[in-house]
Amino acid sequence: MTSLSPVLKQATPVVVDHALGSWIFGTDGREYLDFTTGIGVTSTGHCHPRVVEAAREQVGRIIHAQYTTVMHRPLLELTGRLGEVLPAGLDSVFYANSGSEAVEAAVRLARMATGRPNVVVFQGGFHGRTVAAASLTTAGTRFSAGFAPLMAGVHMSAFPYAYRYGWDEATAVEFALRELDYLLRTRTAPEDTAAFLIEPALGDGGYLPTPPAFLEGLRERADHHGIQLVVDEVQAGVGRTGRFWGHQHSAAVPDILITAKGIASGFPISAIAAPTETMAKAWPGSQGGTYGGNAVSAAAGVATLDVVRDEGLVENSRVRGEQLQAGLREVQRRFPVIGDVRGLGLMQGIEFTAADGTPDAATATAVQQATTGHGLLTLTCGPSGNVVRLIPALVVTEGEIALGLERLEAAVASVVGAVPAGAAAVPAAGA
Ligand code: PMP
Repeated sequence: MTSLSPVLKQATPVVVDHALGSWIFGTDGREYLDFTTGIGVTSTGHCHPRVVEAAREQVGRIIHAQYTTVMHRPLLELTGRLGEVLPAGLDSVFYANSGSEAVEAAVRLARMATGRPNVVVFQGGFHGRTVAAASLTTAGTRFSAGFAPLMAGVHMSAFPYAYRYGWDEATAVEFALRELDYLLRTRTAPEDTAAFLIEPALGDGGYLPTPPAFLEGLRERADHHGIQLVVDEVQAGVGRTGRFWGHQHSAAVPDILITAKGIASGFPISAIAAPTETMAKAWPGSQGGTYGGNAVSAAAGVATLDVVRDEGLVENSRVRGEQLQAGLREVQRRFPVIGDVRGLGLMQGIEFTAADGTPDAATATAVQQATTGHGLLTLTCGPSGNVVRLIPALVVTEGEIALGLERLEAAVASVVGAVPAGAAAVPAAGA
């Protein structure tokens, strides 16, 4: 009998029958409030009627209009629509299928545009699972252990993780920028450095917003040294953080922007955007792929952008995110095992910390598992697997956030006190 490979690690035992909005309906007959959204993908909620309709329509016209053979309308339309939301100057778009592929495309472009080999990443960053993307990922050794050698030319600098260091944000930012300058003097010379690659908020690395001053410090250094600032908006983009792009919480504008996940509500498509003159430095045919920019995905992408605009979902993310964070702080007050609550918009994390200050992955894992039993789907993240992350759909209502908080609190209450000290931690599944 054939079975699914155990290389896939399941975060919940739920088998889905169907889903709508913020809700997943299991084959077990139960209804689950979904605060995972397919790891931040189903931005407009599950099966939004306008996205379903756009995809249905497109399936009947053409499914696979291979984009280096023939061009198709949905991709041209999506490109035009992205122009309305992309930062000024990022006027050229290349499409792929997944976040990892787009990350690789961005790195390839940065290397070709600068003629330099090295990429600087920031500790705790997650950029994907293909070998090159895993080489750029420092959100946990589980993403890169056991299949070396990794891609060369990657150097890691400190991330201003204030809570971990026990400092205030300004001190952490100053430290991390100093370390970056030191790296540029000791390991990768600016003239060998093609790119700084960073998420606007660490995703799999622990749901940590990148302090605006840090992004701005990277921008200054990138300008000074001719280095490309590449911002990975795969998880934080498309309204997730309460702004359309996560980097818009700062004054820094990227040279290359990477998007995927929420851009098409669940259909696989990813993209990088950069100025035309940057793209022109890569030769035609240097990027491509059989499935990139799929017609059905592109049509779903256009519908997603319509829904995000027409339903005011960026603003809903901001307002519901504030409600969620305020509620999480209440839960934290009652359960001191929650050491930190943080996030932007509908990208919120709660970090579990033992009394001695060490990461408490056992409790985080037990809480994440317990939420399923209480009808709430959640995930963990963080290098130690001690952060429970909450990623509701951007269409989530006030009542659903309140219900999610109630269910989360019930799950925490059912676990705290019941976790044996030193119980083995199960690493986060991550993606
Ligand atoms: N970058 C970020 C910031 C991500 O969160 C992810 C996925 N979690 C990726 C890249 C990789 O995307 P994919 O899994 O689609 O390859």
